[in-house]
Amino acid sequence: MSENIIDVLIVGAGPAGLQAAVHAVRKKAGVKVFGRIEASSLYEAHVENYLCVSGVSAGADLLAVAREQARSFGADIINEDILSLEQKDNLFFVRTESDEFLTRSVILATGTSRKKLRVAGEKEFAGRGVSYCVDCDANFFRQARVAVVGNGSAAADGALTLLNYASEVFLLADKLDLAPDLATKLAASAVQVKETTVKEIVGKNAVESLLLTDGSKLELEGVFIELGAKGALELAVNIGVGLDMETMSHIETNKQMETNIQGIYAAGDIVGPPYQMAKAVGDGCVAGWYAANYANKLRRQEEAGS
Ligand SMILES: Cc1cc2nc3c(=O)[nH]c(=O)nc-3n(C[C@H](O)[C@H](O)[C@H](O)COP(=O)(O)OP(=O)(O)OC[C@H]3O[C@@H](n4cnc5c(N)ncnc54)[C@H](O)[C@@H]3O)c2cc1C
Repeated sequence: MSENIIDVLIVGAGPAGLQAAVHAVRKKAGVKVFGRIEASSLYEAHVENYLCVSGVSAGADLLAVAREQARSFGADIINEDILSLEQKDNLFFVRTESDEFLTRSVILATGTSRKKLRVAGEKEFAGRGVSYCVDCDANFFRQARVAVVGNGSAAADGALTLLNYASEVFLLADKLDLAPDLATKLAASAVQVKETTVKEIVGKNAVESLLLTDGSKLELEGVFIELGAKGALELAVNIGVGLDMETMSHIETNKQMETNIQGIYAAGDIVGPPYQMAKAVGDGCVAGWYAANYANKLRRQEEAGS
């Protein structure tokens, strides 16, 4: 585990997370940002309705500038995903793809997208063998044969978690892309990795098998679609962060962007609409500002007490 306690750990390198980093660093907090600009929903967008943008700007270019700006101010930006988040007294213990950290505060800025596979049977069997959340649904698949579909950290970590529940776990990944530590863990485990993906999900009342793109058939009871990184809701659900009661798909915050858990803040699309860059950076500014105040105060208390 890395020795130094971080002041503000930001989960997400989109507009909300990067703006939060800029404001937190300016308040003299130590800041680490985890996430990939390529995974931001802005990356493929073309923007003309954001203040100060003249004409049409590529989202990828805006993100690259924002990342360099946050870095130049002193934020440490790491191209890795967060795998889990736990509370440890008044600190938070965070596991990434290749390391572990303690932090005084966390800003969840992961955006909202829950990526679909878009294959036949997916919609039909959602909730009847098709799941998008290992941490939420693993327990329903005790002693079952299951597969996880995806090339990233959420799929690999999900498959490892499922070994504690299911009788047999397959990981279907046609282009596996993991940090070295997670890849080593996976290779040493009982997860059966198949270099293919899903063509169709088949069943009668519930999932019974998968037709794979390599032409084979896999009989099983459950398939977890975990494309990309673990979403904030999964990270949040495990630690008791409150959701918006109306939608149950957004994190609830106060005006300082703080959640019901002291020290955990949220910003951007994950907090709710409008899903726009202007709103995401506004949220990020507020979250970065207050998370840094909170963490700086906590650090001073620790120093006074030691
Ligand atoms: C096609 C399209 C066009 C759009 N056009 C416009 C437009 O013209 N104008 C406009 O204002 N808005 C537009 N938007 C919306 C805008 O892109 C979003 O509102 C904005 O990107 C939200 O920012 P965010 O920081 O909340 O989330 P995102 O930008 O989605 O960033 C999420 C970040 O979280 C990271 N992440 C996720 N999970 C983890 C994890 N477990 N660990 C670490 N990191 C994680 C990702 O790597 C990514 O860096 C468009 C969106 C789309 C999809």
